[in-house]
Amino acid sequence: TERTLVLVKPDGVRRGLSGEILRRIEAKGYVLRAVQLLDATTDVLHRHYAEHEGKPFFEPLVEFMMSGPVLAAVVEGEDVIKGFRSLAGATNPTEAAPGTIRGDLGRDWGLKVQQNLVHGSDSPESAAREIGLWFPGLA
Ligand code: ATP
Repeated sequence: TERTLVLVKPDGVRRGLSGEILRRIEAKGYVLRAVQLLDATTDVLHRHYAEHEGKPFFEPLVEFMMSGPVLAAVVEGEDVIKGFRSLAGATNPTEAAPGTIRGDLGRDWGLKVQQNLVHGSDSPESAAREIGLWFPGLA
């Protein structure tokens, strides 16, 4: 079994979709191992999004991620890294397939940052790194 780091981004929390998103995760059979609502710090976000540093959407993305509370969760299950990304759908909410979180609930605001409701780790290495970043106390 595997773990992934899921974030409900500030647009999702603001729109009251945290419960709906967690419901979909649990309905799929994945298990919540840790959940917290927090105001992300610039330090954590710069480390979380390190691979995007220098890209044109990087600073707006960090700013967006600090525009309100974020719900962070450690989610466990068989192949959950791939499985959650498939639940989330394509990065761009307009292109995301119906049935996915972004496809059903995401809106394309035409802004500099895709406010696409959720984040999910993209590999076991990222998951370990991101879980350590968002849940420093977790074994
Ligand atoms: P996915 O690849 O499924 O979107 P992700 O959220 O990790 O997962 P990344 O490509 O790692 O996607 O990008 C991180 C975030 O940065 C995106 O979710 C989105 O909010 C923002 N982003 C990525 N690419 C762009 C872009 N071209 N323009 C605006 N924002 C972007």
